[in-house]
Amino acid sequence: MSKFRLKLTGLFVLLIGFSVLAAGLLMGNSYQKNHQAALRDHMIRELHVLNAAAPWPVMDNEANQSEYLQTQAKRFKEIAGMRVTYIRLDGKVMGDSDHDPATMDNHLGRTEVQEALDSGTGSSIRHSDTLQQNMLYVAITVNGDKGSDKQGIIRLAMSLGDVERSLNNMWLALIFGLFLLFAIAAIISYRVALSVTRPLERMTSAAKRMANMDYAIRVPEGGRDEVGELARALNAMAGSLQEQLSEIRQNGTRLQSVLDNMTSGVVMIAHDGRITLYNRQAELLLGSTLRERVGRSYTEIRQHFELVGLIREGLENPVPLHEELTVYYPEERLLEINIVPMRLSGDEEPGLLLVVQDVTAIRRLERMRSEFVANVSHELKTPVAAVKGFAETLLSGAMNDPETARSFLTIIQDESERLNRLIGDILELSKIESRRSPLQFSPIDLPMFLARMTELLSAEAAKKEIVLDVQTEEGLFLEADEDRLGQILMNLMQNGINYTPEGGKVKVRAEIFTTNDGEEEEMVRITVSDTGIGIPKKDIPRIFERFYRVDKARSRSSGGTGLGLSIVKHLAELHHGTIRVESTVGVGSQFILELPLLQP
Ligand code: ADP
Repeated sequence: MSKFRLKLTGLFVLLIGFSVLAAGLLMGNSYQKNHQAALRDHMIRELHVLNAAAPWPVMDNEANQSEYLQTQAKRFKEIAGMRVTYIRLDGKVMGDSDHDPATMDNHLGRTEVQEALDSGTGSSIRHSDTLQQNMLYVAITVNGDKGSDKQGIIRLAMSLGDVERSLNNMWLALIFGLFLLFAIAAIISYRVALSVTRPLERMTSAAKRMANMDYAIRVPEGGRDEVGELARALNAMAGSLQEQLSEIRQNGTRLQSVLDNMTSGVVMIAHDGRITLYNRQAELLLGSTLRERVGRSYTEIRQHFELVGLIREGLENPVPLHEELTVYYPEERLLEINIVPMRLSGDEEPGLLLVVQDVTAIRRLERMRSEFVANVSHELKTPVAAVKGFAETLLSGAMNDPETARSFLTIIQDESERLNRLIGDILELSKIESRRSPLQFSPIDLPMFLARMTELLSAEAAKKEIVLDVQTEEGLFLEADEDRLGQILMNLMQNGINYTPEGGKVKVRAEIFTTNDGEEEEMVRITVSDTGIGIPKKDIPRIFERFYRVDKARSRSSGGTGLGLSIVKHLAELHHGTIRVESTVGVGSQFILELPLLQP
């Protein structure tokens, strides 16, 4: 039970108890008084009746007089059952129904006697030691029997035992009634208090739950009184808080998903060096997890010594910083780091915002581009220098010797052809890389197609006495760009012929197969194998790079540009396929091209 309810109930009970008690006391008292007054009046009337029936005898003989009064007293006692005492004006007892007057002391000092002497009637309540009871004494002065003046006093005595008993009963009933009333009052008070305090208790517990961020709670709104008003206000407050909280949460999740889906790593550092935010990309780029970082100091990022230094610099001198760092954990990467000092709100000290971007691929591409340009210039320089050199030699006299002139002009022709091929390949590669000309897919009858390729190269193969062998299943169709696929096979087969000594063999095999990694897909595998010189293991990973050649001189002599395989690789990828190589030096190589049967 709540304290408030207890207090309220107590107050009600106390108030009701006091009023009921006061009323009871008042009632009891007045009842007692009225009762005694009525009794007295009654006794006075009886005294008058008694006096009228047997008036005080005026006699000279005191003994006779006393005897007479004594007899009267006893008679009356028998009739009315009350003690009667006849007292002379001087206080001497002349007759008594219960005692012998001779043995009784003077009664002049008794209160009722005094009062009677003063005003004609008197009364008094005293405790009788003989009877062990409270007695009511009522006395009146009486005249003599012959119309003479005041002769004596008649006194009636009555035990108050019965009266008191009935009074006691009355008190008992009163107390019991009071008690009952009190109990009922207590119950009613409790209920009243309950009806007042219950809504308040509900609201208190609701407010407590709201303090614990449970804003879904509502209290019964009740009537139109102040308590109902308060309940409505509380509900409205909870509703508004709930709305605001959900908005805050929504904003939070929105922000979180923005941060998590960013391609940059974001790290926020408070002015004291504590990390306050660490997004998913930061986890990826810097290696440690959110749990390892947030709440800790940035100095605990031990794997990235340089980064820690940069952050320290940013904290000491809050100006924007931009730096590129190579990190080796969790793997080697080139990271672009932007440090922005930021003020969070109001008077909070500025912190740092770190935006981390992986620029490894971009830088590698840039490097490759510039390397390519350098390579192109270098590759072009050689034939140009040759053409220029031989032309100059011719002009400065060699022209006159027809033999020399012829051989020089042949070289010039070869070199310009080479130059032409080189430029053609470079243009082709740049066209493929920039995807300027999209592929035109169409169904290709592979056996027919491979037969045509073989025919185109047959003369070249025959020159080196190389056998060209094609194996395919009849009716094998493939969806591809015919010209591009031709380019691929031409390059592979030409390489086969080029890098295979005389009398060797170049074999082309085509077959259909089904992938079983994840979803099933029908693919075509075209293998171009030769019995040539092979490729050293260390060169295999680089074989598809532009201008990469295992043996420059050999490639040159065979008219290669070093671009063939990189064109092949690009084209295979444009067909959503792959190309790989397996080779053993001195035994031969096989290039394995795998393309989807149908283009997605
Ligand atoms: P190239 O014009 O020099 O042939 P490619 O890009 O076609 O250029 O080939 C790159 C290099 O790969 C070649 O210079 C050669 O060293 C090696 N190579 C390619 N095909 C074969 C093969 N069938 N056998 C041995 N080496 C090969």
